[in-house]
Amino acid sequence: MGTSWSARFYAPPRHSDAEYLHAIECELESVVSQMSHWVPDSDLGRFNRAPAECWQSLPAGLFQVLDFSLKVAAQSGGAFDPTVGQVVEEWGFGPSQKKQHKPDPEVLSRLQHGRCGWQGLELDYVNRRARHKGCLSLDLSAVAKGFAVDQTGQVLTRLGVDSYLVEIGGELRAQGLKPGGQPWWVAVEPPGELHGFPEIRVALSGWSIATSGDYRRYFESDHRRWTHTIDPRSGCPVGAEIAAVSVIHKECMAADAWSTALMVLGAEHALKFAEKIDLAALVILRLVDGFEVRCSESFYKMTEIGAGN
Ligand code: AMP
Ligand code: MG
Repeated sequence: MGTSWSARFYAPPRHSDAEYLHAIECELESVVSQMSHWVPDSDLGRFNRAPAECWQSLPAGLFQVLDFSLKVAAQSGGAFDPTVGQVVEEWGFGPSQKKQHKPDPEVLSRLQHGRCGWQGLELDYVNRRARHKGCLSLDLSAVAKGFAVDQTGQVLTRLGVDSYLVEIGGELRAQGLKPGGQPWWVAVEPPGELHGFPEIRVALSGWSIATSGDYRRYFESDHRRWTHTIDPRSGCPVGAEIAAVSVIHKECMAADAWSTALMVLGAEHALKFAEKIDLAALVILRLVDGFEVRCSESFYKMTEIGAGN
């Protein structure tokens, strides 16, 4: 997935460190082989290349993530769209080593008009199959890391671990309390060198948090920042008014997908939407001379927000 992972846990001495490591690595390999678009022969890659309108059997994990992604796509009015892969690639944020650049408008327009959007996908729940209308370029990068975090947590639970903190590429999930009774506290990372950024701490036990931002994968051109989150309506990176969004949810998969969706919904709509569907969300707005931190009611209730540093 082009990122790193870590897992911290208090383990019963039932298994060796190597056994825990092996179990986690097997699970992550399984997620990668199903839904990574960085690996050409993944199940996702095969589904992308399948002929139009032909039903394809999918492994359970990929089917679950695809199903959830389509629900988020529908609920967000298409702000979240797992079929933006080719557009992401054209901007240089995909798995190929293509240079990050502003694409030729004609190329972009051709991609936008030719691509199979999320509405061109159909799922068959009885037989766990899917089909598409052609020219599909599924990219589950906005949700698969969260899913992998949930899966890793389940592996640890199955192995008898009841206190853990799992992280993949900045998406986190924690369970249980540490010896001594403390929950797993995590802090929201400030997007860049922001003076006065308040310390925002979350007691994560039993919850997940995921963050999308424009401060890790981006390039600068024409005096602005072009980030890897694409507005599917325009085929262009989202505007710079939101620096980052964090979402807390029981499932890391949901926190991951919704943080990306809210980035796309933009400064005006993101929090209103989060309140409407009762999502615990934090939005960091970039202002000309600094930033502004805003959060939904449920995020506020779940966190400790300190004074600016
Ligand atoms: P995240 O870091 O979770 O916000 O995911 C960002 C990644 O998701 C990007 O690098 C793209 O591969 C993909 N992506 C970009 N825009 C969208 C979008 N509107 N909906 C779904 N996935 C997207
Ligand atoms: Mg995401």
